[in-house]
Amino acid sequence: MEFSQYPVNALLYITNRPELVFTEGDGMWLTDHNGKRYLDYLQGWAVNCLGHSPKCIQDALAAQSKKLINPSPAFYNEPSIALAALLTENSCFDRVFFANSGAEANESAIKLARKWGKLNQSAAGENRYEIITFDHSFHGRTLATMSASGKAGWDTIYAPQVPGFFKATLNDIASVEKLITGKTVAVMLEPVQGEAGVLPATRAFMQALRALTKKHNILLITDEVQTGMGRCGELFAYQLSGIEPDIMTLGKGIGGGVPLAAMLCREEIACFEPGDQGGTYNGNPLMAAVGLAVAQALLAPGFMQSVKDKGEYLSKALLKLTAQHGLAGERGDGLLRALKLGSDIGPQIVEKARDMGPVGLLLNSPRPDLLRFMPALNVTIEEIDQMIAMLSDVLAQLKK
Ligand SMILES: *Cc1c(COP(=O)(O)O)cnc(C)c1O
Repeated sequence: MEFSQYPVNALLYITNRPELVFTEGDGMWLTDHNGKRYLDYLQGWAVNCLGHSPKCIQDALAAQSKKLINPSPAFYNEPSIALAALLTENSCFDRVFFANSGAEANESAIKLARKWGKLNQSAAGENRYEIITFDHSFHGRTLATMSASGKAGWDTIYAPQVPGFFKATLNDIASVEKLITGKTVAVMLEPVQGEAGVLPATRAFMQALRALTKKHNILLITDEVQTGMGRCGELFAYQLSGIEPDIMTLGKGIGGGVPLAAMLCREEIACFEPGDQGGTYNGNPLMAAVGLAVAQALLAPGFMQSVKDKGEYLSKALLKLTAQHGLAGERGDGLLRALKLGSDIGPQIVEKARDMGPVGLLLNSPRPDLLRFMPALNVTIEEIDQMIAMLSDVLAQLKK
């Protein structure tokens, strides 16, 4: 089918998409409506942690869809219980609330913190509801999570914002301390700011933040929608800094491609009462069965070590590319990495890499001077080498 034959204008215009319709996916590869193949380093935006359509997800969906799809969130179901148990056994948290998107999981974290702040009032007897977040952070697209986010312009698009969010500077503990008031209930951050361009919070900063929040009886919330589920070389990125948060949110990788997200908390903070929180699809067994299959794959012996090894391999390959083409270096943790280009050629590279033939390469440029890499966690060394070779060709072409 020709692109012009698709009635694409039936879709609401929200972003500029290339004139391609993707029809199939397999591991690190996508195929478009012309039959052209692309090596995919976006993977649904760091979502497909086991690549496109892995067998374990196909099997989980097929098996669960024959058994039970949706009994209602008012009843227990087996996959959501099993997944919650696996997540709590392998983290510092005791309780799990399932949601359908990262933004919804973060909304839940914000609500839980505010509820807790009502029960744990300030010395002056006031409800505590203020949450300190960070410049350039990204927490989602609902009104509250947009208000929590530190993205430029997001304070005005849908004004007025949800009140109660105050922005500090990442890796600057004094900037956080300055914002603490009697009404502060939580500090919320991404252990590595993903959308901002793969900016890691330092180990020292995470530890200082944990000490500061403990001292003031404030909750520490990590938004691990992008960094969690093995992306950064540990199952959860908070483990990289040797701290334990009070609340964590998961999304993206937890569903391996299907809509699934979660909010986890410690027992002492679990203060929701019946009616406080819920959602029609939350914890439905079809998505939970997929989450369970994904989590089991990540927890298989040797899997996380292989993510670490491939993260190091990718890091070295990007440094070599930096030396060859006079770029500005790389950064990141595990398989969430960024290449610093030194000039604003990111969008040009993305376009050229996608349009090259016979095989294309899909890359992401979250900032014009940066490329972000978020391959499947089971990417092969050959697929890393192939991406580097293709990217090297594009960089050489741009120099001409
Ligand atoms: C993607 C992302 C979100 C939002 O997740 P959605 O599923 O798109 O709602 C929130 N926080 C972080 C850190 C993300 O990367």
